[in-house]
Amino acid sequence: MSKSQLSSEEIFQLEDKHGCHNYQPLPVALCRGEEGRNVWGSVTKRCQCEPITKPPLFSCLSVRPCVIGLYLMNGIYVWDVEGKKYYDFLSAYSALNQGHCHPRIITALKKQAEKLTLVSRAFYSDQLGLYERFMTKTFGYDKLLPMNSGVEGGESACKMARKWAYQVKGVPENQAKIIFASGNFWGRTLAAVSSSTDPECFGGYGPYMPGFIVVPYDNVSALEEALKDPTVAAFMVEPIQGEAGVVIPADGYLKKVRELCTKYNVLWIADEVQTGLGRTGKMLAVEHEGVKPDIVVLGKALSGGVLPISAVLANDPVMNTIKPGTHGSTYGGNPLACAVATQAIKVLIDENLCENSEKLGHILREELRKIPKELVPIVRGKGLMNAIVVAKGISAWDVCLRLRDHGLLAKPTHGDTIRLAPPLIITEAELRACARIIRDVIASFAN
Ligand SMILES: *Cc1c(COP(=O)(O)O)cnc(C)c1O
Repeated sequence: MSKSQLSSEEIFQLEDKHGCHNYQPLPVALCRGEEGRNVWGSVTKRCQCEPITKPPLFSCLSVRPCVIGLYLMNGIYVWDVEGKKYYDFLSAYSALNQGHCHPRIITALKKQAEKLTLVSRAFYSDQLGLYERFMTKTFGYDKLLPMNSGVEGGESACKMARKWAYQVKGVPENQAKIIFASGNFWGRTLAAVSSSTDPECFGGYGPYMPGFIVVPYDNVSALEEALKDPTVAAFMVEPIQGEAGVVIPADGYLKKVRELCTKYNVLWIADEVQTGLGRTGKMLAVEHEGVKPDIVVLGKALSGGVLPISAVLANDPVMNTIKPGTHGSTYGGNPLACAVATQAIKVLIDENLCENSEKLGHILREELRKIPKELVPIVRGKGLMNAIVVAKGISAWDVCLRLRDHGLLAKPTHGDTIRLAPPLIITEAELRACARIIRDVIASFAN
């Protein structure tokens, strides 16, 4: 395995000394996610690597992840600088649904990087329109607004909703309100933290954005009460709350949200940055209830972990409120992002990753529910977006450290909750092996 010159300890110290302490990473220093496995794998439909012409033996010795007819899977592992291998059960907060360094996405990245990476929106590129057509056809919306990070997508959706409120709904100037759900997380800008109910997230960053209202998540009557205000432009909500600890609303909540937003002429913004793109077993999590938001925000896995790429999808009456010069981004819609995102979505479709996520999610939860309730009282999730809550007296951080020692990386959220979200390319056998690690590690906390 490849070795970096720096030891894990040296890497921890470098970041500690020279970097802003805005995160507390699990102590593990990674240097590789791509796998050049020199074993013969079995044929699997998931891998669509371009065939190579070299004799297989030579290919095998190189770092090419697959050989003709013998597709070697990769991308669910990471390696630390000491060469230790881990299952990645965080997937960069679901940005890596397609796995690390997916060969098709990396190929698209390289090809486009050698041709044209950025023109800014001052000019047209040969990539953007094709990407927009592909995305709007795939997701069933009239238009797409390309942005970079997830939070920019959410911010853009909020701006768009305000424009719509003034231009279409007829809300008096500067009075538009946006409703959010408690426990929401949509990033770290001032607008995003202004809607947050997590003191760690918003504390010390005031004054906050006016015109934001928070209602309890998964509470239909509180939402309806708030929607009665005629100045409300939008309700923005995650179909399943990710950072809050994989909080799943009651069945029918999203349907009700759709009904109420329609009834009160309010835009429904679905923040699918984390839930979208196969994570919950569907391309969009809202599909579980067969409903269609007015605005969808995508990010994270839209690039398969390669670049920060986000997108806002909406139909013309909403999207057309944005006129030239009223919104933008230097990098938004850059040709490199367009090529990468197109391939990232095609990989999800071609490799049936939504179906795999759905199927393996059931197996994972079934396996995790075998852990005694005294140790793990709660197992919840949809598709491969899952969480366990560990019992009082067990530290989720300590569990994650011990999982790390046993070759599996996961991260606690909110003290007692551990999110379990492997790349969607994981196989059943691999998933069962991981479930065994988790069960054994947690069992070791019993006494
Ligand atoms: C991560 C996340 C965001 C923000 O994405 P960034 O790329 O970190 O800005 C927004 N919404 C949800 C639901 C997220 O999980």
